[in-house]
Amino acid sequence: MHLPNLEEAKIRTDKKSEIKNNSYDFKKQFQNQKFYLKTYGCQMNVHDSEEIRKYLEMLGYQETKTLEEADIVVLNTCAIRENAHDKVFGYLGRCKHLKHEKPNLLICLGGCMSQEESVVNEIKNKHPYVDIVFGTHNINDLPKMIIDAKEKQNIEVYSIEGNVYENVLYSRDSKITAWVNIMYGCDKFCTYCIVPYTRGKQRSRRLESIVKEVEELKEAGYKEVTLLGQNVNAYGKDLEEPVTFSELLEKVAETKIPRIRFVTSHPWDFTSELIECIAKYENIMPYIHLPLQSGSSRILKLMGRRYTKEEYLKLFQEIKEKIKDVSITTDIIVGFPNETEEDFLETLDVVNKCQFDGAFTFIYSPREGTPARLIKDSVSQKEKEERLARLNKIVNQYSLNNNKKLEGKIEEVLFLGVSEKDDKKLYGYTKTMKLVNVKADSTLIGQIVPVKITEAKSFSLDGEIA
Ligand code: SF4
Repeated sequence: MHLPNLEEAKIRTDKKSEIKNNSYDFKKQFQNQKFYLKTYGCQMNVHDSEEIRKYLEMLGYQETKTLEEADIVVLNTCAIRENAHDKVFGYLGRCKHLKHEKPNLLICLGGCMSQEESVVNEIKNKHPYVDIVFGTHNINDLPKMIIDAKEKQNIEVYSIEGNVYENVLYSRDSKITAWVNIMYGCDKFCTYCIVPYTRGKQRSRRLESIVKEVEELKEAGYKEVTLLGQNVNAYGKDLEEPVTFSELLEKVAETKIPRIRFVTSHPWDFTSELIECIAKYENIMPYIHLPLQSGSSRILKLMGRRYTKEEYLKLFQEIKEKIKDVSITTDIIVGFPNETEEDFLETLDVVNKCQFDGAFTFIYSPREGTPARLIKDSVSQKEKEERLARLNKIVNQYSLNNNKKLEGKIEEVLFLGVSEKDDKKLYGYTKTMKLVNVKADSTLIGQIVPVKITEAKSFSLDGEIA
């Protein structure tokens, strides 16, 4: 048994990460059994679940979307906010109930929550019906843990700097768009964030392996790749022979895959060279997610974000000027400890200046083990909620205004599937990552088609085939 340790998770040494080849030495021994996989949180988790699904399929399990049908349940969890924890523990309650009826049901918990000491202690002490707990560093141990599962709870979670895995196989959610992991972990240690503790230090994959993966995806008919990492534009800094993210992006663009996206960028690592690279290649999409977090330089400093309000605005301006028709979205945290009304007004000022295409807005959630958790907070929850409501009103208005500008225009849309709300419509995304619903034939799924935008809403567009 290995338990997580937050102190160990913080440690950073000069030791280079090892490159490991994944091995798949197991047999289909659970045929006729079903798995239920539930994913919480960010794109990184969604992509990790594609790896988990592959292992389960290789063991012979078939996927079910109905919890009650499952022989094994895997929860891939998120630790970014407290309410994510509550949801998972709520869900475990349902699983426990199910296990009363199906004693052979295997319950597995993975993802970022498994990397937290307090969570694993709680699982150990209060949730003995959870059979397997695995962490973000050893997803590839899951098949063995399932094969070896006994009556006793098995917890294997490592708090280490971490390695780089190559030749990982995935059972991907889509045949049109694919996530490509370019790096693991993060070294930024923003004071509110748990990721550097749950995911380990920054470890970049080798450029050649990433380009090869994109080439193979293109060969397999994929139309779009999203390069994935907690801090993509710091890519390559940790390699023995450092490479920049724009060098990687150029190589990926030269594969001629039709669409390339990337998430998430940190303003501190966003160089002019990168902006020029995005502007130069037609197949790098003019869409950037650029987390602001706060518009107050005082709060940004307390957050450890490494940029000021003015530096963010300057970068924003440069991106807007150099990348034609670029759309920019952001993340904003409201109610960081002791955020004053003046601080909050600075955030609104940046929002008014930048007029983002969209923003993910959150109330600050203290995370165990992070420095910000130790700050005594004087702002009430009610006040934070009021600020969030004020912010959302403005953010949504700008989102609508930006969408309105597209009415009557022709946009290239990559169709991904049938709309959930109307089965006569397809949904897809513009180059600038705007969701479009169009009455169209399903034969167009997977194709990039010119669409005339007929109506703009705050969070989507309606259109017709042009
Ligand atoms: S850069 Fe992002 S992932 Fe890394 S510590 Fe900061 S907020 Fe967390």
